Amino acid sequence: MRNVLITGASIGIGKGTATAFAALGDHVVLTDILEDEGATVAAELRRAGGSAEFMRLDVTSTADANRVVAAVEAARGPIDVIVANAGIAHKIPLQTMSDELWNHTLNVDLSGMVRVVRAAIDRMKAARRGTIVCISSVVGTAYGWRDHVPYSAAKAGVAGLVKGLAIDLAPFAIRVNGIAPGLIRTAQTLDPVNSVGAAGLEAMTPRIPLGWVGEPRDIADVVVFLASDQARYITGQIITVDGGLLVAL
Ligand code: NDP
Repeated sequence: MRNVLITGASIGIGKGTATAFAALGDHVVLTDILEDEGATVAAELRRAGGSAEFMRLDVTSTADANRVVAAVEAARGPIDVIVANAGIAHKIPLQTMSDELWNHTLNVDLSGMVRVVRAAIDRMKAARRGTIVCISSVVGTAYGWRDHVPYSAAKAGVAGLVKGLAIDLAPFAIRVNGIAPGLIRTAQTLDPVNSVGAAGLEAMTPRIPLGWVGEPRDIADVVVFLASDQARYITGQIITVDGGLLVAL
């Protein structure tokens, strides 16, 4: 039974990923700032026969990251799989963007991943096993997104983070990869203020070659693959999962 820690796991892609690992028989530690939702999901997974627990972890807090990772390690040993998924997006024209908003986006979307990985890496290195999957985006790795400069920069940063970590950790047999999702139906994309909203998703669907908006499980299945032994020779990669969006003319 692998020890899987997921950030931002109460809803959306994180929840879908937690569900996928629990169904495989792994122990899943769901973490998020949304406590009620996370506790409810963990309880649902246990009711379905899985092994899951929820712990509050705000990825902007080094103390939280250290505390949660230490608690998991004390209870179950080194973490086998980290899914660094928590992310936020704010729509804001650059001219009116505050330093606070810039810093907060980078703090959640990029630095937040570093905090969790840093806390877990000593025990993973000592165990000489483990794998890390970071959620980037087609935004930042391939596209810019109007009025989303901090998000685009942070997600591009995630691609660099994946490469840097992959090289540092390869000697310890730890693989690090990322996923760049396209349009996935979650609270983030359905937010009409900071993202495209339901109407926007509908309007963009004809541009997706496969013809449909992705669901959280479409990303979760690729996370599971990257964390599996089937992906044993893949490290330092960002896998685009977008229904063909990127290659369409
Ligand atoms: P959601 O908003 O549905 O879920 C993200 C979760 O992360 C929420 O529970 C959110 O809480 C939580 N969160 C926010 N801030 C923090 C924090 N400081 N510490 C811990 N948790 C936090 O997003 P998605 O499921 O859509 O996205 C998951 C990841 O995938 C993100 O990194 C996103 O950028 C990325 N992505 C998503 C795409 C999509 O189409 N949906 C496309 C490309 C990338 P709260 O709701 O309170 O903010």
